[in-house]
Amino acid sequence: MTERRVKVTSRLGLHARAAANLVRVASQFKSTLTLQRLDGGAEADAKSILSILTLAASRGTDLRIIASGDDEHEALDAVVGLFSRDFDEFEKADGKQISRAINELRCKGLGISEGVVIGRVLRLQEGTREVYRAEIAEADLERERRRFRAAVRLSRRQLEAIKERAERELGRGHAYIFDAHLLFLQDAKLTRDVEDYIDRERCNADWAAKVVGDRLLSIYTQINDDYLRERGSNIEDVIQRLLANLTGEGPKYPNLLEDAVIVSTDLLPSTIAELNLNHVKAIATDAGGWTSHMAIIARGLSLTAVIGLRDFYHRTRTGDRILVDARRGEVILHPASETIEQYQFTTGSVGPTAGAPDVVECGLVKTVDGVEISLRANVELPTEFRAVHDFGACGVGLFRSEFLLSRPGLMSSEEQQYEAYKSLAEAAGEYGAIVRLFDVGGEVGSEVKERERNPALGLRAVRFNLRHKQIMRTQVRAILRAAASGKLSLVIPMVADVADVRMSKRVIDEEIENLAAENAPFSAVRIGAMIEIPSAVLTAEKIASEVDFFELGTNDLVQYTLAVDRGNDKVSDWFRTLHPAVLYGIDRTLRAARDANIPVIVCGEMASTPAYAVLLAGMGTIDLSMIPAMIPRVRTVLTQIDTNEAQEIATKCLAAGTADEVEELVRNEYKARWPALFPPNALPKTPESSE
Ligand code: PEP
Ligand code: MG
Repeated sequence: MTERRVKVTSRLGLHARAAANLVRVASQFKSTLTLQRLDGGAEADAKSILSILTLAASRGTDLRIIASGDDEHEALDAVVGLFSRDFDEFEKADGKQISRAINELRCKGLGISEGVVIGRVLRLQEGTREVYRAEIAEADLERERRRFRAAVRLSRRQLEAIKERAERELGRGHAYIFDAHLLFLQDAKLTRDVEDYIDRERCNADWAAKVVGDRLLSIYTQINDDYLRERGSNIEDVIQRLLANLTGEGPKYPNLLEDAVIVSTDLLPSTIAELNLNHVKAIATDAGGWTSHMAIIARGLSLTAVIGLRDFYHRTRTGDRILVDARRGEVILHPASETIEQYQFTTGSVGPTAGAPDVVECGLVKTVDGVEISLRANVELPTEFRAVHDFGACGVGLFRSEFLLSRPGLMSSEEQQYEAYKSLAEAAGEYGAIVRLFDVGGEVGSEVKERERNPALGLRAVRFNLRHKQIMRTQVRAILRAAASGKLSLVIPMVADVADVRMSKRVIDEEIENLAAENAPFSAVRIGAMIEIPSAVLTAEKIASEVDFFELGTNDLVQYTLAVDRGNDKVSDWFRTLHPAVLYGIDRTLRAARDANIPVIVCGEMASTPAYAVLLAGMGTIDLSMIPAMIPRVRTVLTQIDTNEAQEIATKCLAAGTADEVEELVRNEYKARWPALFPPNALPKTPESSE
């Protein structure tokens, strides 16, 4: 046995590519080669890339290299030589440092619902499937191991092909990293550990791969070196590939053993729509804003959720204990038992968001001065249909039909849609339901189309429909047919001008003619336009003369008026619903509709917020559509206000210069007029308190 001391001098430390070089050199010799950290004794096999990476040897780390075997001297010389040449690598480090994970980790985000949930982390990265844990019978364990090996082989073939293409198209320098990926796949630290885990825990290969992968990754989250830590994404990449290959071929396991809290960087709304809510109790994501579709769906499902956590995902691993407090907008990773007890003591309860009230009022709400206002429901999923009744909604003001498409890549058939719209009309009852034509593109339903460079400004909503006429025709036919047995209207999303309306109406008219020619039962429907982009606001009079009603989508109106991505937490400070420009757009749209004598339904998240609903009433709105669970609260507030007072406030707001000024006005006026209705937490936050 022989040994030598070395120091890691390369600026990037022993990261994946350097480690791959080390494995390549070490594997040329028969001797065993062990690396040992001098500061803590952690050891690694120099022929295992994952083992080397778990040493987390950043620049300056002192190591001992121990070689043992026939060719130990040559082996040691070769490896030490590689260290002295900085692994034949020449790259720059960015030098940033991160703090070590602590035991109980608290992170602040944006609580978008109300519950408090304690559960176990289930990490989920978009583009992958859900991974469940399933008990496997002793006799079937070999089958699971074989399934895992087959997934490894398939992953290897895929990676070799990718590497070849990268070499051809980008050059050897760029393809290099796939050598590391291939080494991960043949590393016993991954493959043996997964197979051992399958045996020990008697579980399915998918779960074993996820747990072992997450453990390897968690070592990275604790590395005190930004560059090395971020290289964990290479391991994640390989694990995701393995999981995709495993879940793509293997059976699905519907049984999660514990309450799962989905932790992700970001989630597609369709992913949330597909979650098994018997098991998933909460979500926590790095990205997301109040009006992002992810947030809207989570609220609609009464799912406890904290979003906009920024850098939380990488600190977790599957199986970690977690507390999600949506009321305070906080998550606590590894909550101590005292924390949990304290929670139970001070908040009185730990549990998901409350359900529907026992006694519900329904019908139009009447303000103090006798103005009658309809409160309708926004609905995304068939599972929410019963909420229309449970919360006393005047029918459905907005059915975001694109969530019928939540199965990846699949458009639903005319028959499937027909059935869905029929049961929607049934749930909506006498007030009826408004079906929005698919608003795909943007962040929604992106699985049905290629990702675009700038999806919010791309082939979204009406543009998608007009470009994919067959999809539009199928939907229109299903709506017209369902309208024969219930009260339905149709709204065209995101029209830019009257041309979009005309082109859409032409398709609708053609389908009416087709159905008539086929003698199929159907009924013509009222047709509306969503007003949610500035060009539609500016030409609202023209659009009003060609439709039966308007729907005001304030979420997009804020996004497009202020040029602020509604799903990007980094710019959430600029997303100001009470910006004077937004209020001006709303006011202008309401006036155009009034002049044309058509109704306007305000259906963005603004309508769900009691303080904003009052302002909308002051601007003359008498039709609001919102998250069903918010209806009782908005109803309570509206019954206690006088719209003349609300109008005085709205007039002042419209004259203000900035969002801060409007918010201050709202705070002061509401406090003075309705102190009992609007406690401080129900009003726009002061700039200091929001920091
Ligand atoms: C809106 O934009 O306000 C709206 C109601 O539609 P969505 O949130 O689905 O874009
Ligand atoms: Mg919209």
